[in-house]
Amino acid sequence: MPAGEGKSRVSLVECSDYDLPSVDTAIQQSFDNLGGLARFVKPGQTVLIKPNALLGASPEHAVTTHPAIISAVIKAVIKAGAAALVGDSPGNAYANAEKTMSETGIKAAAEAAGGKMVYFQTEGVARLKSPSGGTKLPLIPIARPVLDADAVINLAKLKTHGLTLYTGAIKNMFGSVPGFNKTLFHLNCQNPRDFAAAIVDVYELTKPELNIIDAVVGMEGRGPSGGAPRRLGVIIASADGVAADAVGSYLMGYEPLEIGTTALAYRRGLGEARLEKIEVVGGSLEAVRQADWRRPRNLSRLAQYLPPALFRFLAGLVSIRPVIDQSKCTRCRVCLKNCPAKTIHYDKERNKVEIDHSNCIYCFCCHELCPYKAIALKKSRLAKLLGL
Ligand code: SF4
Ligand code: SF4
Repeated sequence: MPAGEGKSRVSLVECSDYDLPSVDTAIQQSFDNLGGLARFVKPGQTVLIKPNALLGASPEHAVTTHPAIISAVIKAVIKAGAAALVGDSPGNAYANAEKTMSETGIKAAAEAAGGKMVYFQTEGVARLKSPSGGTKLPLIPIARPVLDADAVINLAKLKTHGLTLYTGAIKNMFGSVPGFNKTLFHLNCQNPRDFAAAIVDVYELTKPELNIIDAVVGMEGRGPSGGAPRRLGVIIASADGVAADAVGSYLMGYEPLEIGTTALAYRRGLGEARLEKIEVVGGSLEAVRQADWRRPRNLSRLAQYLPPALFRFLAGLVSIRPVIDQSKCTRCRVCLKNCPAKTIHYDKERNKVEIDHSNCIYCFCCHELCPYKAIALKKSRLAKLLGL
């Protein structure tokens, strides 16, 4: 609901674990709190369900939307008389999407529940005009299944994020940009402010009918893939993804407008971010909130106020750098293949994967995508002093 048009409603339902009957009940309660699934899904429609399937990690790592949530939503969609497609594109453009979906447990859960998998990399894209008139990325490539569906249900995961601080509903729709197209975003939008604008562009172009955030177990610290799982014990749902993110980020200790994507989406009128204007049903924010979630190490708070050249200069000074732990590195080369700046190399003679920091744009894609958590973000003393 656009800002200023009354209260957006966010459902908050307690769900302490991923036991299937408990999740089914909690998802049904979420729909009831929002006026019933029939408000969003009509008989005969095709519904695209968009989980967070960043990489092929098993559910207990809390990197991806839990299969039990996906299963519960598919069953409800089918019961409502619609067909359920499940699709995403992994962060690693070279990954086998089907294998990734199998490793996350999403494929098995989706098919057992009666859903059909679609893989964005192979379904084609439409290049749509940036709704904000973005000069950095005037055309945004969006996977066809997202655009062709009659309705989209966004199934996000509550996590910290090294570049955007937080990832929930808005950021999850970034997965609608398949494969190598994501590289364009990092190359053209190196300043987190520009990156947030491009993410909000994607959200605006794909705006889901319904947003559900899996916050049963989320991730704190080095999100979105290298952090630690942390139990919050709730499912957040709303037709308004901005309001869902305002609530999600608040529950993990942020103020909603601290999050660049939430603040920008609110300013663009895509939803409500002011907690006093959000109607929370089913639970109490203060009873659930855990304000001490560990935040990611990043430069975002500083970088979003600076021009790119100054940002890079300061990034060098305060030095938060991706560093490869050679003892953990398996030479799989996922980081090398996905580095937008092409600044990671494999030294055959020494059998080592190395980063040339002189060209690094600090997008932290390598840190995000390393399947072996072998890339740490190393802070200089100055960065620590600044509390970054
Ligand atoms: S750092 Fe990680 S992603 Fe890169 S080659 Fe090593 S194990 Fe693979
Ligand atoms: S080395 Fe890592 S942080 Fe630097 S540009 Fe490449 S992917 Fe981004």
